[in-house]
Amino acid sequence: MIARRQLLAAVAGFTVLVAAAPAAAAPEKLKVLATFSILGDFVKNVGGHRVEVATLVGPNSDAHVYAPAPADAKKVADAALVMTNGLGFEGWMDRLVKASGSKAPVLVATKGVKERKAVDSHGHGGADPHAWQSVANAKIYVANIRDALITADPAGKATYEANAAAYLGKLDALDQEVRAAVSAIPADRRKVISTHDAFGYFQQAYGIEFIAPQGVSTEAEPSARDVARIITQVKKQKIPAVFLENITNARLMERIAQETGARIGGKLYSDALTGDLGDATSYIDLIRHNMKQLTVALAA
Ligand code: ZN
Repeated sequence: MIARRQLLAAVAGFTVLVAAAPAAAAPEKLKVLATFSILGDFVKNVGGHRVEVATLVGPNSDAHVYAPAPADAKKVADAALVMTNGLGFEGWMDRLVKASGSKAPVLVATKGVKERKAVDSHGHGGADPHAWQSVANAKIYVANIRDALITADPAGKATYEANAAAYLGKLDALDQEVRAAVSAIPADRRKVISTHDAFGYFQQAYGIEFIAPQGVSTEAEPSARDVARIITQVKKQKIPAVFLENITNARLMERIAQETGARIGGKLYSDALTGDLGDATSYIDLIRHNMKQLTVALAA
């Protein structure tokens, strides 16, 4: 009888041990909040399994017109570390951090990036915030993220250093890939008309010129007169391709193509990744996608 009791106790003890084991094997992850999807992708690549990444402005969403919701203050309050782009990209962030009551450190991931001025205000203020459009700048983000993660979670130092080194290697390869693709485009064809002033750093790094349509509002659907202006400009400046995201009228696009001979480019991604089913689910895919669109539009 005693033996049986002991056995039951042993079985019960064993059950407790089994139940406790998984909890011990899964230490708590460092909660990191990134303000937008591209930055979130960088943090995931460096943080790996040690971090849990939340984002405020998600895939396919526009940080320019973003308005924080009450749930976002909770996301900030829950984070042990907050990552921002800076350069005026998140004009709403200071107020949100204050409202959340968070005492978490806030990293500006563009720290050390050579800032360029925006051609027009583009809703962001004086600086051009789209620094990630140059892969060399993306590498600066990654180094800053690595250092911030090590400061917040010193036990993960070796992991963060190894992950960052591996990802930086991929970014080096990506940078080479873009340079090779651009060099295959004839030098006099390396220019496009674009309505979204988000590719200044790309232009600076890789030498493809993004020209704003003159005298055309980039906010609204262009009028017939705007289209006539674009046609004159494309002919005069011999621009081989146009990327006009805000023209939804296919007939206007056809008119530009017919009257100028310019190619109509596909979609270029600037400020956000796509959702899981899109063609820019990661930063690397985003840059590759854009380069492919430019290559198709500008090939001789
Ligand atoms: Zn933008």
